[in-house]
Amino acid sequence: MLPLNQTKMAEKKENGHTIVMFPFMAQGHIIPFLALALQVEQRGFSIVFVNTPLNIQKLRKSIPPSSAIRLREIPFNSSDHHRLPPNVENTDVLPPHLIFTFIESSISLKPAFRDLIFDLVRDGDPPLAVVADMFFGWSAEVAHEFGIFHAIFSSAGGFGMGCYFSLWLNLPHRKTNSPEFLLPDFQEAGQIHRTQLAPSVSAAEDNDSRSVLMRKNFWKWADSDGVLFNSVEKLDEIGLDYFRRKLCQNVWPVGPIILPRGNPVRVEKSNGFSPEKCIEWLDSKPPNSVLFISFGSNNTISASQMMQLAKALEQVMNTNFIWVVRPPLGFDITAEFKAEEWLPEGFMPRVVETQNRGLIVVQWAPQQDILSHKAVGAFLTHCGWNSVLESLSRGVPLIGWPMAAEQFFNAKVMEEEIGVCVEVARGVDFEIACDDLAEKIEMVMGESEKGKEMRRKADEVKKMIRDAIRDDEGGFKGSSVVAMDEFIHAALLKKEKIHIDM
Ligand code: UDP
Repeated sequence: MLPLNQTKMAEKKENGHTIVMFPFMAQGHIIPFLALALQVEQRGFSIVFVNTPLNIQKLRKSIPPSSAIRLREIPFNSSDHHRLPPNVENTDVLPPHLIFTFIESSISLKPAFRDLIFDLVRDGDPPLAVVADMFFGWSAEVAHEFGIFHAIFSSAGGFGMGCYFSLWLNLPHRKTNSPEFLLPDFQEAGQIHRTQLAPSVSAAEDNDSRSVLMRKNFWKWADSDGVLFNSVEKLDEIGLDYFRRKLCQNVWPVGPIILPRGNPVRVEKSNGFSPEKCIEWLDSKPPNSVLFISFGSNNTISASQMMQLAKALEQVMNTNFIWVVRPPLGFDITAEFKAEEWLPEGFMPRVVETQNRGLIVVQWAPQQDILSHKAVGAFLTHCGWNSVLESLSRGVPLIGWPMAAEQFFNAKVMEEEIGVCVEVARGVDFEIACDDLAEKIEMVMGESEKGKEMRRKADEVKKMIRDAIRDDEGGFKGSSVVAMDEFIHAALLKKEKIHIDM
């Protein structure tokens, strides 16, 4: 949730219950899980946070001194898995075409995870609940073997995840030649276009190994005691209702679960632009004049798209920007990356230095600090769900450039239903023209009717989100607070019931 409530921190009392949290090894999963862990800890629970050794090593720096989260390693050796390079424990060091192999390999964590739960039980600290990643459907079996309550935590939103889930289950694009089609069990999502399919989904066949993997995993969600969504009821009703209907299961939208600002997850990849430096630069810019550009923790665009984006930025003279630049697609990761070599000739001296219109941040920027600054007027994003929530929590409208997985549907719902997004491109093969891009950036950032309307709606969503996480002294509780209460109540109830049954 938004910055940790310091008063609550002081009031925090241990309640004697432990909750185990286990995210998939990717920044977009670890970050919201850590935020969830910090938030649940505020309610008095003791947290055991599980991951592979390299991720745990990085996480040690991210746990605030006020927190007593216990980090637990379970072994993982990527070299044991066919096609995975050595020492890979996070998608941020993995070529995108190996993501599914990596997801598949994570099933090998099951015996070590079982041992970890066994040890906790044996040592007299049986967890009240296991909260596991959306890719770890298999963990429900482990928890239930020990009579422990189990929940999936989806770091993706209901609508985007619902479309993605339904695509894998039904492969509707395989049953028609039409460029557009409906999802058979999620028709209220509207028309889906083939260009909104990630390459993995697009190429999927009924019985290929990826489809089998994804389907098995998704169906295991139904074995869980419920699904926590990093989402907000009013923002995401269509998608949340899909899961309620489909899984006949508890669905708790407890979001936005956002890491407190300034948390140093993954600073080691920063190129020297500290949050202070970014803020200092933003302080020198007028309100709403800066476009923030970032494609999440592991996506990148192609070299030609990078060129077109840079040209567009040069064209929109009254817009400033902070651009998180990554080596383009196909870049040899063993070589040294110099951003200026991939930008138009003279771009850095002209636009960045002389005009002082932009910051080029290599690899990783303090996204939350940037989005919280009043100088930021819009976010050009791949529409990863964390980015969407982080932006809308600050009332910043979106320019969507979805690239993978469920991001296409996050962009769709934000544009068609909520009205806070304009999509400009899809994926890494999209031939983007700098003029089109410049026109859309100008429309969103400038004084066009559409731009004003998007800002107004983004502000409404910001208020909607604030209401959802309100927990007033006077007794008012927002929908996300109530959902969290219900999740905890369900876990406590299961524990009580097991005691009585014994
Ligand atoms: N992030 C960041 N700095 C960056 C890129 C990403 O802090 O330069 C954080 C961002 O704030 C978000 C997460 O990484 O919390 C990315 O998650 P998201 O769901 O948006 O995308 P994913 O990385 O999963 O594709």
